[in-house]
Amino acid sequence: MATILLEVATPDKGNVYDKDINMLIVRSICGELGILPKHANLLTELIPHAMRIKEASGETKLFVSGGFMEVTPEKITILADAAEAPDDIDVERARAAYNRASERLAKKDPEIDIDRAEAALARAKARLLVKGVHMG
Ligand code: ATP
Repeated sequence: MATILLEVATPDKGNVYDKDINMLIVRSICGELGILPKHANLLTELIPHAMRIKEASGETKLFVSGGFMEVTPEKITILADAAEAPDDIDVERARAAYNRASERLAKKDPEIDIDRAEAALARAKARLLVKGVHMG
């Protein structure tokens, strides 16, 4: 089966993922995209979510906090502030971040930075989803 190289890197951790894959399903600011080998050149911005990676051995998920994705026919490069494989995600930390952000949003306090709380909630939900925990 045809493959395409996927590289995901962050400033703190360097390369978080570096493998030949069969397909990547990502959420960009323009909607969901399925990237197959030999995809046309593309540059887009990603939103925080659980990316789906189809490898020869099956499907895995990888958290990405947003960032930029460049696609060429042979390679997908993602640069993100944060990205984590399932084994690297601390579920309790993500649950705590989820609860903090939900409580902030529920208070409807005018002092609260709603965009920041919504972004934190989206990151926490996506991390939990990578671990198989669905928060709705
Ligand atoms: P928190 O409020 O718990 O710090 P956050 O969404 O604000 O969460 P980020 O700014 O996205 O955190 O990430 C900061 C650093 O912490 C990154 O290196 C990221 O990989 C790591 N990180 C954040 N949350 C988790 C988690 N639940 N498990 C493992 N690493 C995490």
